[in-house]
Amino acid sequence: MTSPETLSAAASAVAFTPHFTNRFHSLGPAFFTELQAAALPAPHWIGVSQPCTELLGWPSDWWQQPGALDAFSGHAPWPGMQPLASVYSGHQFGVWAGQLGDGRALWLGEVQAPGGPLEMQLKGAGPTPYSRRGDGRAVLRSSIREFLCSEAMAGLGIPTTRALCLVGSRELKVQRETVETAAVVTRVAPSFLRFGHFEHFAHHGQPAQLQQLFDYFLRTHAPECADAPNPVTAVLARVAGQTADLIAQWQAVGFMHGVMNTDNMSMLGLTIDYGPFGFMDGFNPGHICNHSDHQGRYAFARQPQVGLWNLHALAQALFPLMPTADSDADAAAEALQEALEVYRERFGQALLSAMRAKLGLLDTLDEDGPLIDDWLRLLAKHQTDYTLAHRRLSHFDPHQPSPAEANAPVRDLFLDRPAFDAWAARYAERLKKTPADTSGDRAVRMKAVNPAVVLRNHLAQTAIERAEAGDFSEVQRLQQVLSRPYDEPSKPADADFPPDWAQHLEVSCSS
Ligand code: AMP
Ligand code: MG
Repeated sequence: MTSPETLSAAASAVAFTPHFTNRFHSLGPAFFTELQAAALPAPHWIGVSQPCTELLGWPSDWWQQPGALDAFSGHAPWPGMQPLASVYSGHQFGVWAGQLGDGRALWLGEVQAPGGPLEMQLKGAGPTPYSRRGDGRAVLRSSIREFLCSEAMAGLGIPTTRALCLVGSRELKVQRETVETAAVVTRVAPSFLRFGHFEHFAHHGQPAQLQQLFDYFLRTHAPECADAPNPVTAVLARVAGQTADLIAQWQAVGFMHGVMNTDNMSMLGLTIDYGPFGFMDGFNPGHICNHSDHQGRYAFARQPQVGLWNLHALAQALFPLMPTADSDADAAAEALQEALEVYRERFGQALLSAMRAKLGLLDTLDEDGPLIDDWLRLLAKHQTDYTLAHRRLSHFDPHQPSPAEANAPVRDLFLDRPAFDAWAARYAERLKKTPADTSGDRAVRMKAVNPAVVLRNHLAQTAIERAEAGDFSEVQRLQQVLSRPYDEPSKPADADFPPDWAQHLEVSCSS
């Protein structure tokens, strides 16, 4: 990312004109409302993601182009952008919530990127017909969290919507629990379609529109399902598989989404809508990262189950599209149910294989499942730091008798050393069963899947507090560090335990 100081310094050398299309727009007015952004007054750059810039195939200094700041703060769209807000509905905290929609997101169009079309959205660019009681704005605090975490997830290799840039305003104040300043994040993804888009037309009794949306999704995002004997179950199985893969990766890295409502579930299995998310510090499977989630519906250990619950809601929405929905409803329901079975199987496989990789196990033995379960149980019992434990385990030497000097860094994370030693003895035996594997190779391999740095709340909080005081350098620095999370950071504190003050941090739905 480039700093704001450099922003004013150099004028852009190369003029470039991105070409925008908007296939979603062709669906027609039942699906969205066209409207212009409400401009963010006196906008200024806070951050630009270079990895996302590369994804788009744009020149690294695109943001220095005349009109770039205006386009991404809602003052004046670029030629070809066709701003619109889409309508969707959804289940929130397990209850049907009725019509929701892009209350503060504005769809700009699609960029023809080297890897295929990528949609762009402004988030926080003013009210839309779907804002309900909201002001259409996003506060600087939550925008920094979304900007950083989108790019952090991409750095980790976890499917996610991306964040291209972040623009702030010192002038626009918005009221939340206190008065805060507003910001606009530009998001990028192959598609922003959610389960809730399909639920909307199913629940509002609009089968023609439901069919139209399904055909659009099939054509633009799931063409391989079009030739299946039943494209509806093929699409459902595809989404189930991608969702399973995604949530397995969340669990493996210790990520909690915080608000897994069906309107926050991507049809492409992407992490979407960063709100009160969190990364596990001390491992606690029951941890609830969202202070507003009083029942713990979206607690860490419940995410896999919730994923399936949400897929059931999607299946229900797709039901009217089943060829036999009217003639043989039972058979249609059964076929959808069967497609959902993909989820359990894929999730189990994906999680096991991710955890095997985290423990450096190359081959597959029956004993791996219990070994991994007992490792997680040990971490939970001691609330051991999840990220540090895996990173330090990467250097575990099975040929050193435990307790041994070489294994002290990971061992010292456990108050009950004998409990660690008992597990470590089993782990050492397991590692020795993969003869070709040397400790050196394994350490390199394990560190490539066990990140040194994740976006812990306290890291985000420090960047937020500095930004609120007018210094954006920490946002930019963190974004760069998080883009390479498997590298040892040059600032050791980035990879260290959270400080004591972080225990009192609370994140809620307020954003
Ligand atoms: P979320 O909990 O962020 O997923 O939002 C749920 C719904 O509320 C979505 O339809 C959002 O667009 C909408 N929403 C959230 N915050 C605002 C806001 N400040 N202004 C308008 N709509 C909002
Ligand atoms: Mg949302």
